[in-house]
Amino acid sequence: MKQLVILSGKGGTGKTTVAAALAHLASQELPIVLADADVDAANLELVLDPTKQEEHDFTGGQVAIIDPELCTACGICAEVCRFEAVVAPSPLPPRRGEGVRAYAIDPIACEGCASCFYQCPVEAIRMEEQTAGRWFRSDTRFGPLFHAHLFAAQENSGKLVTLVKQQGRLRALDEGRELLIVDGPPGIGCPVISASAGADLALLVVEPTVSGVHDLERILATTDHFGVPALVCINKVDVNPERAAEIEAFCADRGIEVVGRIPFDTVVTEAMVQGRPVTAYTDGPVAEALRQVWEGIKVHLAL
Ligand code: SF4
Ligand code: SF4
Repeated sequence: MKQLVILSGKGGTGKTTVAAALAHLASQELPIVLADADVDAANLELVLDPTKQEEHDFTGGQVAIIDPELCTACGICAEVCRFEAVVAPSPLPPRRGEGVRAYAIDPIACEGCASCFYQCPVEAIRMEEQTAGRWFRSDTRFGPLFHAHLFAAQENSGKLVTLVKQQGRLRALDEGRELLIVDGPPGIGCPVISASAGADLALLVVEPTVSGVHDLERILATTDHFGVPALVCINKVDVNPERAAEIEAFCADRGIEVVGRIPFDTVVTEAMVQGRPVTAYTDGPVAEALRQVWEGIKVHLAL
């Protein structure tokens, strides 16, 4: 089983358009599994029209919780918390019939370091696993899709990416599927590292913009670090021929093959609006360029 990850140094380069098209083209020739590793803004599902088969909680860390019945309002937890996550009670005296006003934890600010838990003299604080998101197994017309949503203001997206990818790998191995296509997150952060680790090949989608070469250099630093060979696909190549030439020269200099030169065409947006991969929507120049990308990938992965 081979693993292809599709990456871009920043968002909005057309990475998911390419991923959906490759899912369509690859599934016509061999059994595949798909993983949407963009857990902060999963959008492969918008094009693949998945039917959810399984749904699971993702616990992404711990958060402190104060039992107001036990809290004596000594304030030690507020003193030891370096993240200003402890909320002091009102300084006004308690109303009649009301006990000591307890301290509380802001769950958004809490980093789960547990300092307060260890320092509370009356054991009024407990640490609880926090549900940070959900992950799903869905069926699509191209193969099983593993995807996830990280809740707002939650961290550990790298851990969730790893989980989604692992589930995809297991499914591929269990069913003898030949290719796992991972639609990676944009940028170069921790989730990108999680998405890249263990891949057999990375397809880097870039646009011919002022920052095109810079974006490419940044993402190559990650793939190089993991020893993942890379191919490049230039999206909207005809929008800025000068910048496209810069990217071509950079790739030639680094010995990286440019396997795709996709022209700008509003048909890409039309296909998106229809919820279809562009290669399933048209046979025009964009689809032809994407077919060439798939041919290049097959050669490199010996599929
Ligand atoms: S350290 Fe414990 S008792 Fe003191 S304010 Fe915090 S939760 Fe309440
Ligand atoms: S667990 Fe750490 S971050 Fe959270 S409230 Fe306690 S001391 Fe602050």
